[in-house]
Amino acid sequence: MDKAQEFRGDQGVYLLWLDLPQSCSITIGKLGEFTFTPGIYAYCGSAQRNLQARINRHRSLEKTLHWHIDYFRARARYLGEVLFLDLPKQGECWLVEELLRIPAAYYPVAGFGSSDCSCGAHLLKVPLAYALGP
Ligand SMILES: [Zn+2]
Repeated sequence: MDKAQEFRGDQGVYLLWLDLPQSCSITIGKLGEFTFTPGIYAYCGSAQRNLQARINRHRSLEKTLHWHIDYFRARARYLGEVLFLDLPKQGECWLVEELLRIPAAYYPVAGFGSSDCSCGAHLLKVPLAYALGP
């Protein structure tokens, strides 16, 4: 495998599906403490290199909590991820817009994961029936 092949596809935008089994209060770093209702959540992020390592980090519970999502992830079940390979960073915000088209999807916490863009948040709560599809 040459270098070009090795790195192709190891960058892009990702969508994480998380399940919060029960209502809980979580301190999201400096953003503050919030009460989250149980259910399915979607988080949009990107890694412009080492995408697979980033996904592995999100999957793992053994890490120093750094990003907003880390604090939420610590209390949620990891359901899976969807990768949009080679999409630039702005693709995160496109993905948020697309998810908001799901009826009744909403931002549970303003500013969650969106401190460097103009989105309301990069974490959305999505009603179970829509999240799992037909
Ligand atoms: Zn955004």
